[in-house]
Amino acid sequence: MRRDVTSMHGKRIAVLGGAGFVGSHLCERLLDDGAAAVFAVDNLITGNEENVRTLKPRPGFTFMRQDIVEGLEVEGPLDYVFNMASPASPIDYANLPLETLRVGSIGTENALKLAERKGAVFLMASTSEIYGDPVVHPQREDYWGNVNPIGPRSVYDEAKRYAEAITAAYGRSRGVKTRIVRIFNTYGPRMRLNDGRVVPAFVGQALQGEDFTLFGDGSQTRSFCYVKDLVDGLVRLALSDVTDPVNIGNPREMTIRQFAEAVRVAAGGGGKLVFKPLPKDDPKQRQPDITRARTLLGWEPKVALEDGLRETIAYFREVAGRRASA
Ligand code: NAD
Ligand code: UDP
Repeated sequence: MRRDVTSMHGKRIAVLGGAGFVGSHLCERLLDDGAAAVFAVDNLITGNEENVRTLKPRPGFTFMRQDIVEGLEVEGPLDYVFNMASPASPIDYANLPLETLRVGSIGTENALKLAERKGAVFLMASTSEIYGDPVVHPQREDYWGNVNPIGPRSVYDEAKRYAEAITAAYGRSRGVKTRIVRIFNTYGPRMRLNDGRVVPAFVGQALQGEDFTLFGDGSQTRSFCYVKDLVDGLVRLALSDVTDPVNIGNPREMTIRQFAEAVRVAAGGGGKLVFKPLPKDDPKQRQPDITRARTLLGWEPKVALEDGLRETIAYFREVAGRRASA
């Protein structure tokens, strides 16, 4: 049944991976909603305490430096556990293969046990990567995917597939109230400039007047969602009673070549296009079918790419300015 409750007012919530890009925006949104307590748990392996600096003085916010693979305890009752913890960029998970597998498997089970002990709703941040290099396009949630189980991306893809499986199993066999979100490419302020993902890469290149590095011929497609839209989808899903996986992403699909041009226009700069080898198993196409999110959550993205890019570019300019003056 569709419900239109969209606020976390008065709730007590743990956000695992809360000092990361998405996690820190989620914490901020929860505090803005009037949550009674928000615990951001993070081992800072790819995150940054700077992302939660402005949240620390806010009433109800607690930062806990903790590896969720090692175990997890949060004081007092909890209404929701959001599991956002995992390296997420292809460069990060290539550098951290075992950490990625462990946080998706052992870390996710520790997070599920926490939710079970507290009687909290558990939301698992899964990914469009579970569809692999998809042969069905756009991707609907009932598509099972096309994943190489031993390739370089498998440490992430298979960890997330396992995480979905154990989440569903805790729902079926232990009565935990579970939600699974499949997040498609998301961008915005607080991404790391050097995390290797295409948005910070191209924005950084545009701001420095460097050439855009296109992998392959740039004809592969992605669909980019602004982080504020994503976070609204996460909150709506957590507040719903939908246990099946839900895609959250922006259906506006474009080639990476078109994306480079969009960044050039938004940033007012950037060099020529240079072509580098395509990484192994890089998906050729990706676009979410968001019928389920629209129908069951009343969610759809609102922020146009041009507006989201403007905010993102302003953030990277500010970071560069801070670094220069430090
Ligand atoms: P991120 O790297 O900025 O954030 C992940 C956070 O998890 C980091 O702060 C990191 O330090 C923390 N973390 C990792 N392992 C941990 C552990 N063992 N214990 C505690 N904390 C740990 O990445 P992001 O882009 O913010 O992604 C957040 C989540 O959303 C991830 O689970 C990712 O798989 C998922 N996701 C993101 C996107 C996207 O486009 N941003 C797309 C699909 C899925
Ligand atoms: N990409 C690129 N140049 C870069 C970084 C990435 O052409 O400097 C391409 C990458 O090969 C992929 C797409 O951009 O096809 C999106 O990459 P990203 O790492 O952001 O996310 P993915 O969707 O692959 O997880």
